[in-house]
Amino acid sequence: MRNPSSRTFDIAIVGAGPAGLAAGLYAGRNRMRTALLEARAPGGQLLNTELIEDYPGQKSILGGDLAAIMLEQALHFGAELITSPVTRIRVDERGMRIETSDGEIQAAAVILTAGGNPRKLDVPGEAEFAGRGVSYCAVCDGAFFKGADLAVVGGGDAAVEEGLFLTRYASRVTIIHRRNEFRAQPILVEEAKRHPQVAFILNTVVEAIEGVEKVSGVRLRNLSTGEGSTLPVGGVFVFVGFVPNTGLVDAHLEHDSAGYYVTDPRTMMTSIPGIFAAGDVRSQLTRQITTAVGDATTATMAAMRWVEDNKRSVDVGTAEQAQLVA
Ligand code: NAP
Repeated sequence: MRNPSSRTFDIAIVGAGPAGLAAGLYAGRNRMRTALLEARAPGGQLLNTELIEDYPGQKSILGGDLAAIMLEQALHFGAELITSPVTRIRVDERGMRIETSDGEIQAAAVILTAGGNPRKLDVPGEAEFAGRGVSYCAVCDGAFFKGADLAVVGGGDAAVEEGLFLTRYASRVTIIHRRNEFRAQPILVEEAKRHPQVAFILNTVVEAIEGVEKVSGVRLRNLSTGEGSTLPVGGVFVFVGFVPNTGLVDAHLEHDSAGYYVTDPRTMMTSIPGIFAAGDVRSQLTRQITTAVGDATTATMAAMRWVEDNKRSVDVGTAEQAQLVA
């Protein structure tokens, strides 16, 4: 990578998932000096997604292929990819200082697109079958399980809501929850209990996801009785929480109770002027590639305006000072 020490950009984009790559495209194409910072490989959650069928314009595309096209497009328009983990973002009167493992860059505005990760079960078979029967997104992958019996793990809003969504495709959805009580809203739980295709297994944890080449079942342990069992399923959807990557800014940013940044819906600006957020780090109803890209478009247009307005005010200040001196 190029040494980022002491370099200055108009806009620094932190995280090169779909939101970051879309921001890079817009900022670069609008001739902003654009840094696109990524710790590892560009693509974010796209790299954990097998097949995508819900991105307009692409009837069916592999996640990795879509990431590669998005990256190529952002770089083509001049965004500069800096592959180095961001360790801290500081705000001072002259702008933002973005510290990375390889030095510091400065930018007039920052767009936070560092995404997050679904919390994992951490059981045998989960990583092995990820994208091949284990999924963390019902909207993305539900259609691949037409007529299948599915397991959904979790007891929060996401598990119950996504479990209900999966009944569009699956013959049967079994929600497996480690307690008797749900964290999910009662109205959702009641709807699921009434649904003829939804079953529940409570006080139970998943100990392993089993299969050969593809998922064939989950090994369970009832926490009340200690009894073990196996539930045959063709897929497992895990909804045990999502962890946004929101710890980088060295100042308080307004966030919701789950830790997601609260942004102005018109501009995607956070509670700190000049810091914008888009995609999975942002408090919002849903986490889709399309919404990440949409957020990023708004955030970038607003950030560009913010950079230009700031430059203008500096210029005006300088002109006024010059007049005073004269
Ligand atoms: P959540 O509310 O944190 O629920 C996570 C669930 O996973 C809990 O039931 C938890 O069990 C269980 N869990 C956690 N770790 C586990 C493990 N290792 N093994 C088995 N189970 C485990 O997460 P969420 O459902 O993703 O929701 C996140 C936030 O988004 C919430 O604020 C939620 O209200 C919101 N949301 C809202 C909607 C909506 O309003 N329609 C839809 C989706 C999400 P315990 O209950 O035993 O801790």
